[in-house]
Amino acid sequence: MSLGPKILAYRNRQFRLEEAVDAYLKRIKQRASLNAFIHLAEPSLREAGRRMDARRDSGKTVPPLAGIILAAKDNIHIKDQPTTCASRMLDSFVPPFSATAIRRLQQAGALFIGKTNLDEFAMGSSGAFSAFGPTMHPFLEGKLPGGSSSGSAAAVAAHLCDAALGSDTGGSVRQPAAYTNLVGLKPSYGRVSRYGLVAFASSLDQIGLLSHTVADSALLLKYMAGHDSADATNAPVPVPDYPASLSASVSGMRIGILEPLPDEAAQAHFDTLSAQLQEAGASVRRITLSLFDYAVAVYYIVASAEAASNLSRYDGVRYGRRASHAESLSELYRNTRSQGFGEEVQRRILLGTYVLSEGYYDAYYEKAEKVRRLILNEFNQAFTKVDVIISPTVGGPPFTAHQDADPLEMYQSDRFTIPASLSGICALHVPLTTAPTETPRGVQIMAPAFEESRLFRVGSALEEIARETRHG
Ligand code: GLN
Repeated sequence: MSLGPKILAYRNRQFRLEEAVDAYLKRIKQRASLNAFIHLAEPSLREAGRRMDARRDSGKTVPPLAGIILAAKDNIHIKDQPTTCASRMLDSFVPPFSATAIRRLQQAGALFIGKTNLDEFAMGSSGAFSAFGPTMHPFLEGKLPGGSSSGSAAAVAAHLCDAALGSDTGGSVRQPAAYTNLVGLKPSYGRVSRYGLVAFASSLDQIGLLSHTVADSALLLKYMAGHDSADATNAPVPVPDYPASLSASVSGMRIGILEPLPDEAAQAHFDTLSAQLQEAGASVRRITLSLFDYAVAVYYIVASAEAASNLSRYDGVRYGRRASHAESLSELYRNTRSQGFGEEVQRRILLGTYVLSEGYYDAYYEKAEKVRRLILNEFNQAFTKVDVIISPTVGGPPFTAHQDADPLEMYQSDRFTIPASLSGICALHVPLTTAPTETPRGVQIMAPAFEESRLFRVGSALEEIARETRHG
């Protein structure tokens, strides 16, 4: 059931939250082999459900999101619950505060059932790089759900919670959403406070949402977004009432289809979509972004540089793990960091340190930042001609479990999601099928920064088209 009707049903006393919590906890245990959760919030959660039920039953008004149960990726702080980032480095870290996004949703009445598995420190595209073991795909045997918000995607797709928070630095919400037939939102950079999200690449990180419907995403963003002085990169722009303005009409909208498309199947798929969108009243044209193909290289330089810098704080002294044996301070750093970080995180730190080092800074890091600016310029140019751009979200099938993927191949799998991240614009993945298919059928919609309403509008229209196609 999507969130709006569920909230209404709760207000109308059609179910008790305490029982809803128990039902989800039971399901989570039944589907433990998915490895979607790292930490569960019971029993405090049952108590919170009971309190909300008592409030409702006594006739008092309940907060606007009362009745829904969410999960959060384990790189987002919830006060007094562990945050591990799926890393040995933070295996015993308990934050003394909650992320702003979490606090806002809790204040609006949402409950959080637990913390979900991820690629260590959100670095990865498959869900395999976790110190707690891989997250498994909820309905494709032997496959991985994508990453790095792997646990959030698996949990929502397997109905272990109503919706979930993820983080998206280069595609980590949209890509697993594509592999599990969910809606995945990466808000504009600065739309949602990053306070309480463990930093990976600070100029790219955003908290995003995985949900079953576009309307759910719009509703949760309304409560999660907004200015926060605790995050200097959070923009003081008003948050529209997304659900109220949600319309499934694309009449009069200008939609660009990104070219070239990866193969003939994608071409045929987008040709059909183009016809359907035109029938719904939109004007559709082809858009090419000549620098699109440089985005992956730019991203892995910029993101790794920022990661190397951000992760320098894990030194065995200030946070988390500390190596037990060390003869000197530098040995303490070395032992702690080589024991605490997994292979992919170490790879990023090496890469990032290299591109920031003297003599290479200008050749790699600075050049990458320049190309990043040019990519944004191209988007800005394109957005004078169209209101949104649509493209595939992923280029191929999900990764297979227990198979060592080539890192470069894995990096390339983000080629459709990374450009929006580098440009700070917003993007939404919308699934066009509910069938458990290995060839993801869905669309990424990209809109200018702070124009999430456009994503929701086109997203709802695509949901409508998908529904008609299924039933027609
Ligand atoms: N797959 C990309 C990476 O590994 C994106 C990660 C993310 O968005 N957190 O860097």
